[in-house]
Amino acid sequence: MNELANTAALREPCVPGLFSEEEGARLHGARCTCCNTPYFPRVATCRNPACEESKIVPCTFGGEGRLWSYSVADFPPPLPHRYDKPFVPYAIGVVDLDSGLRVVGQMVDPVEVMRVGARVRLVIEPIHHEDGKAFTSWKFKLL
Ligand SMILES: [Zn+2]
Repeated sequence: MNELANTAALREPCVPGLFSEEEGARLHGARCTCCNTPYFPRVATCRNPACEESKIVPCTFGGEGRLWSYSVADFPPPLPHRYDKPFVPYAIGVVDLDSGLRVVGQMVDPVEVMRVGARVRLVIEPIHHEDGKAFTSWKFKLL
């Protein structure tokens, strides 16, 4: 077994069912086929007050988008959130995916290079390591 395959076998989602990476980074959400509103995570009924008929179907989101805004986490988060020590400040982005979904996620790149309006791509990356496993979540990487 090569090192890459070995590393992949040790990856585990922080929260099962919210995302996948087998066919590229994907968030598992939903979309209302009546009013086209995207949702992540999934919902049971459409929340758009202008929607005439809630028709929710499962939908995945991925690919690219634009950084709408961001904030900087410059101190360690409290439990149950986990992180690799020593703590390194990181950016939390609000991203408008090209598919219409606005979603919050940790940014891969250093805080110093963040800029509102930048093009980004959804990725699945480790957020902390424990017991020989890499626990993953969705993040955004600058293009
Ligand atoms: Zn709707």
